[in-house]
Amino acid sequence: MTLLVADGLNKSFGGVIAAKNVGFQVAAGELIAIIGPNGAGKSTTFNMIGGQLVPDTGTVTFDGTVVTGLTPRAIWRRGIGRTFQVAQTFVSMTVAENVQMALQSFNGESWQLWTTAHTLRHGETLALLNAVGMGDAAGRPISELAYGDVKRVELAIALASAPKLLLMDEPTAGMAPAERDQMMRLVQRLAQETQIGVLFTEHDMDAVFAYANRILVLVRGEIVAQGTPEQVRSDPLVKRVYLGELGTEAIDEAMRDTVGRDRVGRDTVGGGS
Ligand code: ADP
Ligand code: MG
Repeated sequence: MTLLVADGLNKSFGGVIAAKNVGFQVAAGELIAIIGPNGAGKSTTFNMIGGQLVPDTGTVTFDGTVVTGLTPRAIWRRGIGRTFQVAQTFVSMTVAENVQMALQSFNGESWQLWTTAHTLRHGETLALLNAVGMGDAAGRPISELAYGDVKRVELAIALASAPKLLLMDEPTAGMAPAERDQMMRLVQRLAQETQIGVLFTEHDMDAVFAYANRILVLVRGEIVAQGTPEQVRSDPLVKRVYLGELGTEAIDEAMRDTVGRDRVGRDTVGGGS
């Protein structure tokens, strides 16, 4: 079942083309990675799907409805969730309280710490924490947790809104390799078991190629390759511009060779991020 269709998305900032005719689909249960050099347009693409940015042209269709132009909150309520860092204000609260607060927020209940902290939505809270392997830490303050565990709680908070599609911008940033693998395994299992679609960005290519079902390669706002890890790994352009970790000039050269200067729009592309 197709969850998301991004079609012909364009976005410019002044003279900088951040997204150029970006189009792809996400099916339920799929784990899709968006990769590309810094400034390639990964966050811009996420933000056009989440509603933080409105595309100049193009449409985002989610669950059969066009959501382009809706507010981030309206899009979130329809089922596109995203992970956010636990706000500094809430690190002294317990793991369970943070998840309870997210559940209450999604369900339109006001948060009253003094009356209800230990009882409200207790069962749902524990179920979410168990789903991310943090049930045993329910009563601990966030401030005491290891970094990788905080990231799991952030995932539980995102899941509190029962998303059908989850956007994760660099979910494993700052993690040690073992933590990263654990996190990616967890996300993979969630996608398979609950049929949530997941769109994520990730710098570590080992993690991308090990866990993604499909990979989209963005360069200068344009999808230059997409497919299974095997297809993308053997794509000559990807090999040259990305996996080889070449510099900007080499990217320009390879793009010119492979897709042509006109398609790159280099004359109007600014200095990157
Ligand atoms: P990525 O996430 O792949 O690193 P971004 O989507 O953040 O890339 O950025 C794509 C391009 O758009 C970059 O050149 C960046 O400088 C530019 N850009 C992104 N957001 C803005 C903005 N709000 N205003 C101006 N330029 C922006
Ligand atoms: Mg980014």
